[in-house]
Amino acid sequence: MFEDSIDRDPQSVACIFCAITRGDVETDYLYEDDEIVAFRDINPQAPFHVLVVPRRHFPSVDAMVQDARDIEILGRLALVAVLVAREQKLADSGYRVVTNHGPHGAQSVAHTHFHVLGGHQLGVRLG
Ligand code: AMP
Repeated sequence: MFEDSIDRDPQSVACIFCAITRGDVETDYLYEDDEIVAFRDINPQAPFHVLVVPRRHFPSVDAMVQDARDIEILGRLALVAVLVAREQKLADSGYRVVTNHGPHGAQSVAHTHFHVLGGHQLGVRLG
């Protein structure tokens, strides 16, 4: 999952989210710009479950804090997560934004993504 060969690639051939953001896999985007896309999770854990993903390959948020340009993308991912939730009219009922890093964080896809979940009452327990 966290092999160096994959993590060092700016656009990894082996990375499913790189394939999606490149457009190799037909995907309906809920949001799209030069740097970021949002699309529905293939295995939704709530009525609304969207992933907000940078087009550039970063293995996780933990790899995005060295360079000012990367930090800007990190901030924009959070912004797009909020905008996507608001677009779905979830602001009043509420929603959750979460990102996982590494084994203890239960990260399963080694390309940064923010989950946006809502549409029903989410559990209180986070970990
Ligand atoms: P995480 O466990 O935080 O790394 O989350 C990875 C998420 O990616 C999971 O919720 C998966 O269901 C989702 N996922 C994996 N492959 C795809 C795919 N091809 N399209 C959409 N979502 C996917």
